[in-house]
Amino acid sequence: HAKVNGRKQTCFYNETMSRDLARRREIEAELRSAIQKDELSIFFQPIVDLATGRIRTFEALVRWFHPEKGELRPDEFIPVAEETGLIITLGNWITAQAAKAAAQWPEEVTIAVNLSPLQIKAPGAALGIKNALREAGLHPSRLELEVTESLFVDDNCATETFMEELSDLGVKFALDDFGTGYSSLGYIQKYPFSKIKVDRSFVSGPNVGKKTDAIIHAVAELGSKLDMAIVAEGLETIEQVRTVREAGCTLGQGYYFSRAVPDYLAAMLLAQEDEDSTPTRALA
Ligand code: C2E
Ligand code: MG
Ligand code: MG
Ligand code: MG
Repeated sequence: HAKVNGRKQTCFYNETMSRDLARRREIEAELRSAIQKDELSIFFQPIVDLATGRIRTFEALVRWFHPEKGELRPDEFIPVAEETGLIITLGNWITAQAAKAAAQWPEEVTIAVNLSPLQIKAPGAALGIKNALREAGLHPSRLELEVTESLFVDDNCATETFMEELSDLGVKFALDDFGTGYSSLGYIQKYPFSKIKVDRSFVSGPNVGKKTDAIIHAVAELGSKLDMAIVAEGLETIEQVRTVREAGCTLGQGYYFSRAVPDYLAAMLLAQEDEDSTPTRALA
């Protein structure tokens, strides 16, 4: 392949990159005040029982409605929050808001909250969660914490302590985006997970086919043997719903059922289910 001709290798730096960098710095500066200014809000996306069509859980997904930039997705500001350490304050706020919303729902409906590795490794991490539960009056068994495999790269013992302490209280853990990271089966064995969320790249997109189907089947089989629920993420069509259900997934999440919605709409979805006992979306 091409040699660099003894010259210093040029670093690719163009307008797009400097614009990205500037935006990142802006986001960093503004994120600090966004909570106080009430610009952040928690949206809720249903996770549905694939046998009955009923909502079992809502996943809390943070949104930032910026006065000039419009709606910002978490992928844009969560990494910035992680780099700056703001994720601790932000994360505590998110957990508190999510627990408060869930306290209004029927008892059998749970709330799932995403946690960054930093939040778990921070001193007093479990206390933050317990405070949020107590203040909201939410039983720990109604809280599920979603973590990704990136949490385990450094095999920190704080992680184990955090998970053991909270799961002893009844808090559940879900392994998010399964299949995209290191996917070591050792994590499933070592840590108290009750749920695996198969990443949406196995459900839709260019890579989906015989191989991904086989993988979902295998994960679903593993789930049923180990008594873990398997969630298929990113379900957008009825065909995808059928495929993952036939593969043995018991729960599903995706635009086919609903996007993430504000708290009052989440409550409405539950009320509607209760009234006419029909699922949010047909499963046949
Ligand atoms: P995630 O935890 O895997 O959440 C699922 C993401 O997939 C959400 O994106 C959701 O809106 C999107 N999604 C759901 N169904 C579909 C579908 O059918 N099709 C497609 N194309 N997408 C679908 P969102 O809300 O942009 O969040 C992205 C990621 O940001 C989340 O991935 C999670 O890792 C992180 N995140 C979101 N909220 C929080 C939070 O409160 N705290 C932390 N630490 N991370 C968060
Ligand atoms: Mg998640
Ligand atoms: Mg996910
Ligand atoms: Mg994700």
